Amino acid sequence: MRRFLPALLLLTLPLTPSLRAWNATGHRVIAAIAYDHLTPQAKTRVDELLKQHPDFANLPSREAFLAASVWPDAIRNDPRFYDDTAANPKPTPLLAGFPSMARHTNWHYIDLPFSPDGTPLEQPKKPNALVELRRILKEPSLTAYDLPWLIHLTGDVHQPLHCTSRFTKQLPHGDQGGNLVFVTPGRNLHSLWDGLAGTEISDEFVNRFATGVTAELVRGKGPNPRLSHDPKRWIDEGFALAQHDVYTFGPASGSRENPVELPENYEAGARRIARVQLAKAGFRLAAILNAKLGR
Ligand SMILES: [Zn+2]
Repeated sequence: MRRFLPALLLLTLPLTPSLRAWNATGHRVIAAIAYDHLTPQAKTRVDELLKQHPDFANLPSREAFLAASVWPDAIRNDPRFYDDTAANPKPTPLLAGFPSMARHTNWHYIDLPFSPDGTPLEQPKKPNALVELRRILKEPSLTAYDLPWLIHLTGDVHQPLHCTSRFTKQLPHGDQGGNLVFVTPGRNLHSLWDGLAGTEISDEFVNRFATGVTAELVRGKGPNPRLSHDPKRWIDEGFALAQHDVYTFGPASGSRENPVELPENYEAGARRIARVQLAKAGFRLAAILNAKLGR
């Protein structure tokens, strides 16, 4: 789930294990690919940074990096943190090692708008994933607090539905990245895409998956693929994918009772796209960390 929906609406939404942005499996796969493509110097620096982070200080290095990839989602349910997007935010006490206790649930996506039926568009709100990625990449030196956000948001914007909101007559204020599009009973479009890497989070599964999608990307683009370091480019790519390859089922958004009927093989096609996106996210994350933290 990308944002806090009105309570009433929340009650009607399906509870699935993967409500938020590549689920833990997807984020861990991206982090595994990135970590294994860091230069020795960049690896030493990220290891040092995570040792300074209160929540990762005691984990072995690679494990800390993978755990950091899901930290921005984990704090959504952590009582030390508070919802800064609530109507009346109630800040929690600032703890040592954290510059902020806000959950920042609006950092995870950017709602670039489009409409298949001429519905008026609303422009993305700020803050958003692009604003935060740019801010973090511009910092003269990366902080322990921002590193998990950089790892996580790089992953998030490679999920095409984190880059868009579709405006239709049925949903004139947007579909919240597919969260309001019902595709099978009890499942929305966003969660279908979040879960395309599966739900297993064991190291064995994650490493095998990472090796598989890495090999596919290298087969297509060579061992050192030239991939953009610009988050705007990543997001534009995701936005294009969303328009051309995600919403392939017409303008309807369905309802809980009458979900949209997806084209045959929809999920198989989606899985192919997701594998490329996961690999690209991993390589790009490694590339920006290598550029930022030395080679
Ligand atoms: Zn997220």
